[in-house]
Amino acid sequence: LPAPRLCAPRADDIAALLPRPGVESDKYRRGVLAVAAGSGRYRGAAVLAVGGALRAGVGMVRYIGQESVAAEVIRHWPEAVASVLEPTDPAGRLPTHVGAWVIGPGRGLHPAAEVELETVLAGDRPVLVDADAITLLGRRPHLVRDRTAPTLLTPHAGELARLLPGTERDDIEARRLEHATRAAEEYGCTVLLKGSTTVIAEPGAPAVANPTGTPLLATAGSGDVLSGLSGALLAGGLTPGAAAMCGAFLHGLAGRLAHDGAPVSASDLIGAIPAAVRLVEEAG
Ligand code: AMP
Ligand code: MG
Repeated sequence: LPAPRLCAPRADDIAALLPRPGVESDKYRRGVLAVAAGSGRYRGAAVLAVGGALRAGVGMVRYIGQESVAAEVIRHWPEAVASVLEPTDPAGRLPTHVGAWVIGPGRGLHPAAEVELETVLAGDRPVLVDADAITLLGRRPHLVRDRTAPTLLTPHAGELARLLPGTERDDIEARRLEHATRAAEEYGCTVLLKGSTTVIAEPGAPAVANPTGTPLLATAGSGDVLSGLSGALLAGGLTPGAAAMCGAFLHGLAGRLAHDGAPVSASDLIGAIPAAVRLVEEAG
């Protein structure tokens, strides 16, 4: 694999990209994000992804999922709009008035989740694919490659290994940038590879290394918050590359700011997103 070019954004680069509401804004123009995350087994993933999206500043978050999970989401975030969809419902019932999608965190690997993923990818909206949805994607680049709208994949090393034939997790950890770049080329989309240094690769563009990461982020649910946060930026009109770069930057800053370098939980990350945004905007 050839060594790709690499650059790192600064706070003022991020500030210049973040969507800001203008006087003419309304909730629809600020962006509507649909979140298909969580399941009976992993309700927290839905709560965390929706929370990450809401704190990023989006016009509306629509949660899509089964009744028991939707109830949990609304209990935590009454401002979310829930569309109840049981796992056995036909995927044709998915809402259509949506600006972008986040799909996968805690969603499960059952056949209905696979049909849901295929339906969302067949649509014409930007989609952030994470976690179980990456596993369901398997080694089928055409599901992403044939899309007309942009796609952002946000795997950790184990998930990226599931996308690349003949590649093990250890290979990826040893050459993170090269493998993220290879996946971006094969799938024809943006790839944010999470881990010790989060890297973002896109076909034909220099790769980006996120400078704000901290091992404090390595805690359950942290990736679900990143999905919601980056998905909200996608719904706000950023390109997948910009949404990934800004999402990772703010996520890392939130991890550092939440308790001044002391350990954080994924919920704490959500609470610290506004402080991270403020810090970035002061630099811009
Ligand atoms: P997930 O694997 O989906 O739960 O996401 C884990 C989150 O923690 C991602 O944002 C990773 O980039 C981050 N993370 C995991 N390990 C480390 C590490 N050693 N240093 C910095 N960030 C990490
Ligand atoms: Mg994850």
